[in-house]
Amino acid sequence: MNAVFKLLMALVVPVLLLAGAFFLAADLARLPDALRPLLPWLPYIFCFSGAALAWRFKRSRSVFLLLLLAGGCWITTSFLPEATAAVLNVQLGYAATCFLLPLNFGILQFLEDRGVLTGWGMLHFGAIFAQAVGVLVLMASASLFAPQFAATVLGRAQDIVYLRLLPEWFDAWTFIPQAALLLALVVVLGLLVHLALAPMARDAMHGALITTIVCAMAGLHHVAQSGQAAVFFSAGAIIVTLSLFQESYSMAFADELTGLPARRALMADCKKLGRKYAIAMCDIDHFKKFNDTYGHDVGDDVLRMVAGHLARVTGGGRAYRYGGEEFTVLFPKATAAEAVPHLDALRQSIAGAEFRIRGPLPKKARGKSVVSVTMSVGVAERTDEAATTEAVIKRADNALYKAKKAGRNKVVAG
Ligand code: GH3
Ligand code: MG
Ligand code: MG
Repeated sequence: MNAVFKLLMALVVPVLLLAGAFFLAADLARLPDALRPLLPWLPYIFCFSGAALAWRFKRSRSVFLLLLLAGGCWITTSFLPEATAAVLNVQLGYAATCFLLPLNFGILQFLEDRGVLTGWGMLHFGAIFAQAVGVLVLMASASLFAPQFAATVLGRAQDIVYLRLLPEWFDAWTFIPQAALLLALVVVLGLLVHLALAPMARDAMHGALITTIVCAMAGLHHVAQSGQAAVFFSAGAIIVTLSLFQESYSMAFADELTGLPARRALMADCKKLGRKYAIAMCDIDHFKKFNDTYGHDVGDDVLRMVAGHLARVTGGGRAYRYGGEEFTVLFPKATAAEAVPHLDALRQSIAGAEFRIRGPLPKKARGKSVVSVTMSVGVAERTDEAATTEAVIKRADNALYKAKKAGRNKVVAG
């Protein structure tokens, strides 16, 4: 259920924008008057300002995505609406673009952000540039090559891009070649499956990629109506740019290792509390020793496992990673006494959880492949004496210290 919810969340904003683009494209008169003369320029304004921002945020994949969108838009809207569209080589350039956009988008999902001006980034630029040159050469082949040779090249290209695998109805409604449509469909479905199955790959960029492919294909489909095409390419650029903001938000507020909200999120949420709340400080017992015995990587896996239990805490509690092996649970509407049973259930669930070590066992583990950890908890509530969250956290910390002193694996209210 949680996975389905997260899947939807990753897609909600882009899908709404996509719907907006379809709404505008259905009747361009819906576009504000002030924007209409700008329309042919809008995709480039959004693509290049987005790319500049992505560069600044060190999101190289988004930079390339936006450049590809701008290039696709240029090819779709600059050559084809004119009479030249009937010429075979121009048609083929368009058809090749219909393949290259979804293909590149699909590949981008599996690459990493490794900088724009690095060797890796330059390789990317080179690959995109080479594709653009290829498409342009195809379009200009009639005047670039001897007629005989041009005819051979065009004939070959035509056989490839207009390959038919499915019946007429699949693509009778569009200029996009059937195989390119099929490719886009396969890439979108592949990305959706990847989104559903790989929680670690689930970021704002992922949802943006899927919807941006739809935008690009819709833009390509409107090749005879450059206004509509501009709307779709603009929407794609806006979706990618917004995903940059979404990602930088989650980078600031989510803990990378465990996926729990981070300390910064805790501090922000503390400002929204009323007069009745409780804060619990949780600390894993003897974790230094655990790391020494099983290694830091196993320690990290155990932190993720513990975080999974914390995320499911009952009683209206919200868990955060405070730092290291320390976590905080905030109960925005409970007293310490009300929170204790829920914290104790949490403590027990962690103590009872067995963690199976994968891969080779470290020597110090002495053949023990199933391990477990315990957690000590100190909880305190807001009172007139401790009226600030800092003061409540301090009390909870004192209670935690007592829990440790009393033998660990305990919940103490202070
Ligand atoms: P106790 O709290 O029961 O008194 O003992 P402890 O050994 O847990 O105490 P301490 O707070 O001194 O040690 C915390 C250890 O947690 C230190 C460090 O090795 C480990 N730790 C902190 N952050 C991480 C992390 O992100 N990953 C891993 N694997 N270990 C971490
Ligand atoms: Mg500690
Ligand atoms: Mg500890």
